[in-house]
Amino acid sequence: MTVEQRLAEVRGRVAAAERRGGRSAGSVTLVTVSKTFDADTIRPVIQAGQRVFGENRVQESQNKWPVLKDEFPAVELHLIGPLQSNKAADAVALFDVIETVDREKIARVLADEMRKQGRTPRLYVQVNTGLEPQKAGIAPKETCDFVSMCRDELGLSIEGLMCIPPAEENPGPHFALLAKLAMECGLDKLSMGMSGDFETAIEFGATSVRVGSAIFGKR
Ligand SMILES: *Cc1c(COP(=O)(O)O)cnc(C)c1O
Repeated sequence: MTVEQRLAEVRGRVAAAERRGGRSAGSVTLVTVSKTFDADTIRPVIQAGQRVFGENRVQESQNKWPVLKDEFPAVELHLIGPLQSNKAADAVALFDVIETVDREKIARVLADEMRKQGRTPRLYVQVNTGLEPQKAGIAPKETCDFVSMCRDELGLSIEGLMCIPPAEENPGPHFALLAKLAMECGLDKLSMGMSGDFETAIEFGATSVRVGSAIFGKR
């Protein structure tokens, strides 16, 4: 199968999951994760009509996306990987959505950079639903306080929550937890679900799913 065919197949599966979950058609955004693939591999996917892409490294993205964004100005780029403070300026300059606001320090640096650059990428808070020590993210019980701190102290508007469930666990309870937290915090956007579990995530209310290998193939 070509990458265009796999994209069409994944889109069909997203649409079917929307129908099964009683969600309206087109209510789930497909974020195509293009990390490790170069501009020449990504271009046909944009030409096939895909507009929203996710990357996990700032520096890698700087090497391929400025050119593609010039060619295709409607592209929307999401940062879905951990962000270091010294890369925050570059991230604010390049990304349209930053999904990995995961600690107070990075929230402060982002707020400063957004003021300086006059750019306002949309923001998600990453929640460590499995409380995994090696994984980034705000603890579930601290999520709403963190979202309020971002809004009230830093003037940042948080659009939604994002999670990456533990690899070895059934993801359903993690998706349910993220949905519950979003409701408690007054947020309505949920970034959850990857190639192996995006249909489950849609059943639990995902508004965007991040799908890489099911479209681009093995990394
Ligand atoms: C790589 C990555 C994905 C996509 O994973 P696949 O299993 O290839 O679909 C989704 N979310 C994050 C945060 C990632 O780093």
